[in-house]
Amino acid sequence: HLSKRLEKVADYVLEEGTVADIGSDHAYLPVYLVGNSLCEYAIAGELNEGPLNSAIEKIKANHLSDKVEARLGSGLSVLEGRKADTVVIAGMGGPLIANILQEGQKHLPDVKRLVLQPNVAAEHVRRWLKKNGWSLIDEAIVEEDGHIYEILVADRSGVDPYKEETVEKQLWLGPYLMESKEPPFHAKWRKEYDQLKRIKSQLQLAKNTHAQRRIEEMNMKMNWLEEVL
Ligand code: SAM
Repeated sequence: HLSKRLEKVADYVLEEGTVADIGSDHAYLPVYLVGNSLCEYAIAGELNEGPLNSAIEKIKANHLSDKVEARLGSGLSVLEGRKADTVVIAGMGGPLIANILQEGQKHLPDVKRLVLQPNVAAEHVRRWLKKNGWSLIDEAIVEEDGHIYEILVADRSGVDPYKEETVEKQLWLGPYLMESKEPPFHAKWRKEYDQLKRIKSQLQLAKNTHAQRRIEEMNMKMNWLEEVL
């Protein structure tokens, strides 16, 4: 049984070919995908030996050792000598995900789809995708156990969901998510709005130029939020 978050991630993995799950921990996702014939072959990449061993145990227990391969290594380096059709990077911060993609550029030319689930700061991932020729083709947002997770899906189709006049706002909120405005989207950004409001009232007491600049940035973001909430 997979978490609601990983189930949503799984929905976006291409059925044909190989999925590489980078930072796979217990290999829950690869085992679920291959075990249910939702993908042909999987690589579970892990930086740390502890989680790697859990992955190996999990794969063995499910009799999937011929179709799910656990590899030790940082980021996309586990794709050395391999090809993946889908790359999943889930459950890490947005800046780390962007960094893994950046460092692993040379392993990306054969990859058809990226499914990325940043726990925080998804904006960094959208920016990296946009800058590096990937098309953001869909987004999802799910709430589970009081946490809200965003899932970003990219390919090379050339689709461009950004508009020049609103690109910064779209990068921050998510071009698809801000259109569909599902309940978790609303909950997430309502909370952010209230937080910005609180910080702003504290900064207003400071009265220096640095604080002033931050207040201006916050005003811009609060305006964006007022437009979508
Ligand atoms: N992907 C799983 C999920 O979404 O449930 C596990 C997320 S877990 C919070 C993050 C995992 O990524 C840890 O097991 C950690 O060892 C691994 N990790 C962190 N940095 C990594 C890197 N540069 N390359 C590969 N794995 C990494």
